[in-house]
Amino acid sequence: MAVLAVLCAGGCGRSHTLEAGFWFEPVTFQSKVIDGAVTAADLATIEAVARAELTQAFRGLPIVISTRRDATFRVRVVQEVRDRRMRGNWGVAGESFSMPGLGGNSAVSFLFLASGAIGYAPAGASRREIIEAIGRGIGRTAAHELAHLLLPQAPIHDSKDIRSYEFDSAARREHYYGEMHWALARPWLEERLRR
Ligand SMILES: [Zn+2]
Repeated sequence: MAVLAVLCAGGCGRSHTLEAGFWFEPVTFQSKVIDGAVTAADLATIEAVARAELTQAFRGLPIVISTRRDATFRVRVVQEVRDRRMRGNWGVAGESFSMPGLGGNSAVSFLFLASGAIGYAPAGASRREIIEAIGRGIGRTAAHELAHLLLPQAPIHDSKDIRSYEFDSAARREHYYGEMHWALARPWLEERLRR
C-alpha cells in the first residue's frame, strides 16, 4: 500500500483525465450587419461564449477543456478553413485530423461561422445577439470537431437531429440560435472517455 501511494504521488490523478486545448488564433471579420469590424471586446465575448458552449457540451464527461496548445487534443479557431479534398477548395466550418492513440488537431473557421451567424440571424436581432451567436456557432463546431477527434471511426454524421452537435452541417439556423444537444454520439463519448 505504501509503495502504491508513493508511486501515485507522481501524478496518477493526472493521467486519467484527458485534456482538450481550445484557443483562438488572431482573426478579423467585418460586415455591414454588425456596423463594421468585430472589436477586441467583441472577440472577448465571442471567445467566452464559444468556450462556455464547448465546456457545456462535454460537461459530465471526464475531459477538461483548457487553453493548452500542447494538450493531447487541440482545437484552434483560425481565420478560414478550406476543404483541400475538394477541387473547388471552398470554405468549410471545420476540419479534424486524428492520430489514433496520440490525439489530434482540429481547425474551426471564424469566417464561416461569423458569416453563418449573420446569415441566419432572425429579423430584428441586435448586434449583441449576433456577436453571441458567432460564439455559439464556433463553440458548437468545436464540440463537433472534438467529437471527431475522440471518435475518429464513428459515423457521427448519421444523426439527423437538426439540433444535435453531430449534424453534418453548420449551414443551418439551429447551429447558431436556440439550444443544442448530443444525439447518438453521447453514449459513444461516455464509453470512449471512461475507458
Ligand atoms: Zn463532421
